[in-house]
Amino acid sequence: MKTVGYAAYSSDAHMAPYHFERRALRANDVAIEILYSGVCHSDLHTVNGDWGPQPYPLVPGHEIVGRVTEVGPDVTHYKVGDQVGVGCMVDSCQECDQCHDSEEQYCRHGMTPTYGAPDRIDGEITQGGYSKHIVVREEFVLRIPDALDMSRAAPILCAGITTFSPLRTWNIGKGSRVGVIGLGGLGHMAVKLAVAMGAEVTVLSRSKKKEEEAQSIGATGILASTDEDAMKKAAASMDLIIDTVPVEHDVTPYVSLLDINGTLVIVGQVGPMKEFMTVPMIMGRRRVAGSLIGGIKQTQEVLDFCAEHDIHPICEVIRPDQINDAYDVMAKGDIAHRYVMDMTQMADDA
Ligand SMILES: [Zn+2]
Ligand SMILES: [Zn+2]
Repeated sequence: MKTVGYAAYSSDAHMAPYHFERRALRANDVAIEILYSGVCHSDLHTVNGDWGPQPYPLVPGHEIVGRVTEVGPDVTHYKVGDQVGVGCMVDSCQECDQCHDSEEQYCRHGMTPTYGAPDRIDGEITQGGYSKHIVVREEFVLRIPDALDMSRAAPILCAGITTFSPLRTWNIGKGSRVGVIGLGGLGHMAVKLAVAMGAEVTVLSRSKKKEEEAQSIGATGILASTDEDAMKKAAASMDLIIDTVPVEHDVTPYVSLLDINGTLVIVGQVGPMKEFMTVPMIMGRRRVAGSLIGGIKQTQEVLDFCAEHDIHPICEVIRPDQINDAYDVMAKGDIAHRYVMDMTQMADDA
C-alpha cells in the first residue's frame, strides 16, 4: 500500500514529505487511515539522534488515531470503519511472562516500537504516525471510544498512558496525596487523571507562575520548589510524586516531600543524572522508581477512563506542513499543550 508522510532524512535536517509503502496485510493485520497524529517530545529527541543513531529516513509518531480501512482474515476485534488508535508499540513476543501479564512494554525480548525498529517478521524498519496510513497487528490496535474527540484523543496513547500507569501501579484513589513535577504535556495529563481518581493533587514547579492553570485542571495549587519554607512545611505530605521533567534536575528536595513508604516515579526520559542524597530515602523507606508507558490492556483502560471522565489532553491541531515550526517551538522549552497533526490535510502528492 502506497502512503505518504513526513520523515526526517538525517539528524540535522528539517522533516520533509516521504513516499513509502506499508506492508501488505498479514492475516492478523489491521489497515488504518490515520486522521490525527500527536507530536511527542520524544519524537524530537529521536529524530535529532539524541538517543542514538537512527535509521533514516524515519517517520516518527506514536500517538495515532484513525479509522479501519481493511482487516486481515484472522482479525476478530475490528471491522472496517471502526475508530482506532495505535500507541508506542506495534509488536512484542507475546510469549514471555511480561507479555502474558499484559505488560508488553517490558517484553523480555524487547517490544517493537512504532517507529525506527525492525519488524519482527520481515525486518523492515517500522514507520510511525506522521503519515496517512499504517498497518498494525490486531493485538496492538486500541479502540477509541465514541465519547472521545478524535482530534484530541491521540496524546492519550503516550502522554496519557505514561502517567496513568504509575497512578494504577501505586493504587492512587480517593484521599491519595499526589504531587506532579512539571506542568507540560505529561504533567497536565497526570493532574487530570489523578484528580479523576479522587486524589488531592499538588503541582510542583520552580515558581507559582502557572498556579491558575494548575487549579483550572483540578490541582489544589502549586508548591514552589524555590520556596524553602513552603517545602519544609510540606515535608512527608505526599504518597506519590510523578516526575515528568524531561531534562536533568535534582530530585533530592522532592524526595523529602514523600510520606513514609512514598514513591517518586520518574517518567521523563532524562538520561544520566547526578547522584542524589540517600538520607531522605533511608529515613522514610522512600523509593525513587521509573515507569515506561503501559501495556496494551492498560492503554485501553486509560482511553475508556478518559471517555468516562471527559478528560482530553490540551491540544493544538496543526497541518502536517507546520511540523518543522512545531519542532522549533518544542525545542525551545516545555509547552503545556500537545501539537496534533491533522493528517487528512496532507496531500497524496505532497
Ligand atoms: Zn511519546
Ligand atoms: Zn514478550
